[in-house]
Amino acid sequence: MKARAKSSNTPYPIWIHGEYVTNPPTRPSDGAERPEGHYIDRGGYPGANVYAINFNTFCRQTAAVDKSGNEIYAQDIILHETEDEIAYFIVEDEETVIDVVWGEIVALESLQTADIKVIGNTIDTPDFVEGMQYYRDNDIEIPYLPLLNVQVSALPYLQLECTKCGHVMLSCAYMARHKECGGFLKAGFATKVYREKEKAFA
Ligand SMILES: [Zn+2]
Repeated sequence: MKARAKSSNTPYPIWIHGEYVTNPPTRPSDGAERPEGHYIDRGGYPGANVYAINFNTFCRQTAAVDKSGNEIYAQDIILHETEDEIAYFIVEDEETVIDVVWGEIVALESLQTADIKVIGNTIDTPDFVEGMQYYRDNDIEIPYLPLLNVQVSALPYLQLECTKCGHVMLSCAYMARHKECGGFLKAGFATKVYREKEKAFA
């Protein structure tokens, strides 16, 4: 089964993509046996690229890809953008996505590849859904976020403004709440990011 998860045996947890295995091959460098457990094998030389994983971060790969050819996994956050409207979806499993703002359940395969882009996932951005629902419930415009972590992108930093204490900060990653006071953060970009055409949220 193809999947991804965060490593548990590296200095910092990193995303590992590959084949999920529970009985991995011996380590080729010293022939060491590995105990039964949760692993992802990135492939290549047998046993050389096997990582122990944190199973709480385990995400199955779906058969779908986004418009850039990125594989889509469970827990991914997808921006769906057509000529007229935009929406955010969370990938529930191999077949199903859920509209973050309105809760509608949709078949993953009904989304056109050319209209979808993976912008992050709920493991790296666990409060994304909460943030979007706060905007919906409080008549705050849903922000247009073509990426939830802009660090290795050409996009400008995010500007986050606390709705409770008024604090404004720049951040490379979206977060829904201001850690210091617990208030929800309104999000935008430090420099305006223009869409090709203004679109309404469906
Ligand atoms: Zn605050």
